[in-house]
This record gives sequence, C-alpha cells and structure tokens, in this order.
Amino acid sequence: MKAAFLTREGFKVREVPEPVLKGDGVILKVEACGVCGSDLRAWRDRENIPEEIIRGHEIAGTVVEAKGEIPYGVGTRLAVAADINCLKCFYCKKGEYNLCDNKKILGRDIPGGFAQYMLLDEYMIEHGIVNEMPEGMKFVEGAFAEPLSSVVALHRRFPMNSDRTVVVLGSGPMGCLHADLSKLSGAKVVLADISQERLEAAKEVLKNSVIYVNNSREDLIRIVKDVTKGIGADLVIVAAPSPSAQSQALHLSRKRGIIVFFGGLPPDRPEVSLNANLIHYNELIVTGSFSYNPSDHRHALELLAQKKIDASRYIKEFPLEDIESVVEELSEGKNIDYLKAVIRPWR
Ligand SMILES: [Zn+2]
Ligand SMILES: [Zn+2]
Repeated sequence: MKAAFLTREGFKVREVPEPVLKGDGVILKVEACGVCGSDLRAWRDRENIPEEIIRGHEIAGTVVEAKGEIPYGVGTRLAVAADINCLKCFYCKKGEYNLCDNKKILGRDIPGGFAQYMLLDEYMIEHGIVNEMPEGMKFVEGAFAEPLSSVVALHRRFPMNSDRTVVVLGSGPMGCLHADLSKLSGAKVVLADISQERLEAAKEVLKNSVIYVNNSREDLIRIVKDVTKGIGADLVIVAAPSPSAQSQALHLSRKRGIIVFFGGLPPDRPEVSLNANLIHYNELIVTGSFSYNPSDHRHALELLAQKKIDASRYIKEFPLEDIESVVEELSEGKNIDYLKAVIRPWR
C-alpha cells in the first residue's frame, strides 16, 4: 500500500506492506484523512522527530477485515478521531476523557491515516474514539468530524444563545468553525484576524452571517463595544497561536465574560502577559479548551449529517502524493482558496 511518512526531509510517500491483523481488531481502508494544524507543526519541527511515522488523525474509511468481538463488521463505514484514552486515570473516571493523563494520539504515537490502510486493534477501538458514520455521509465529512469535535467540546461547556455575542480571534479553519457553531446558537458573532487573506477565505465559507474585522487595520475593541452597546462580548475564543491575541481577548470581554484559549502557543514561548486587573475587577473567567470527549465526536457527526455545518464549504481534496506540497502551501499560508485540506489516499 501507499503511505505518507513524516521524515526529517518532509512527507515521503512510500510503498509499504499492508498492516496485518494479529489479534482482534479491524483493518480500515482509509478513504479520507484531514490535514491538521498539528501535522503542520510536526512538519515544521521535522528535524526533531524521534522516528518516522504515518501521521493523520482525522480519519474516515471502511472496514475491510474484522477479527474477534468487534462491533464493526466488514463494510462498516467508520469515522475515527485522534485520542486513545486510558479509561483508568483520575480524569477518565470522572468522564473528562479529553484530560486523560495517559492519552495516546493516532498519527503521533500510533500509525495514522495518511495511508491506504490502517489497523485499529481491539484496544484502540475500546479506548479510542471510533463511530459509525451516519448513512449517506461522505467520507470527507466523516474525517471533518474530528476537528469539529474540539469545537463542539468548547461550545458544550459554554453554550451561547441569541442574547449573546461571541468574538473569535483567528479565522483559520478552527476559528471559522467556532464562528459557524456560535451562529447556530443564534449568537451575534465577530470574527477577527490580522490577515486580510484569511478573512477573505473565511468570507467564502461564512458569507455575511458574521461581522469580519481586520485586527491589524481596524479597532477591534471599539467595534466589539459598539456591537454590544458598550458591554463587551460574552465569550471570546482565541483560535490563533498568538500571545497578543490572548492578551487582547481580555479587553474584548464583558465583566464576568468567558475567555477561552482554544489554540496552544509555540512550546518555546508559552508565556504571555495578561492584564490581571481586568481579571480581578471584571471577574473574568479565563480558561483553555483542549481536545474533546467521545460524545463530542458523535455530536459533530450529527451536525454534519444534518448539514448544520456544511463541510463542503471548508474542504478541498488532494491525493496522497500531494501531501508534501499541500503542507508547504498551508504552512506558507499564501494564495490558499480553501480552509481545510483532506487527503484521499485512493485518488
Ligand atoms: Zn486535528
Ligand atoms: Zn485516562
């Protein structure tokens, strides 16, 4: 089979033996696997990879072989998400699976979906996030449920409604999904980015359902004040790996508003200066959001099946051979007319 390995020289597509089921589990014929921001980060940092691995954790495909007491027979169409949780630690026992202390991640710790076939053993099926795709759903939508899951998880914790205003900083694919889901709750949405090019791409997806702000040219704080009659936003989501966006977020919130750092910062400079007096006097709630629970993946699949989120607006499909050029293109971020790249290993 063909598989794309991340090597120190970038992604290399190679002909390798198909995975073999030794114990119980399934072999999945991978039909779609999305390219994630974490794949881009790993690619940029490829000099330091401990070993070559088949990456990819936003997966959809068909079971072509099944062995043992597995709930999925041959022909079942599965959507597979990244995390494999231990189900034993303090957090797993509380049902806060996203915070599992012993989390393994597909495409990082275990071979992932940038390949024509992958193996899901019994442990991965029991401890991982594997769901049957709703009838009629396209494989690219099944793959897209993974990134949507982490967005769904945030909105599960902080549900909005038509009386609320949400500000999203960062109009990449995740920022757009946050804006999309906030719209679905009826909230008013302001979507800001420092790149006009990214904002233009976002407009293609979200049309005129949100207020767009160029955060390098316009006065975002004033605009948010105007939109909220001087009060400030109820929820500010930072979906950009930017310290300045994180500190700016505090100025966009209303008193007792919620600020969520959705994206991480580069690991070599995670420190940010925040105006602590805003947190104190305005009783701001500043928190993070990371990954998702198995139920969020099921919810994401439902949202896509019901077309409440239209995946087709986000996605462009590429064959496996294009993975290196796609990652280069996404990493440069120039002249890109789509938000999400999905690899189709059989194209
Ligand atoms: Zn991802
Ligand atoms: Zn755990």
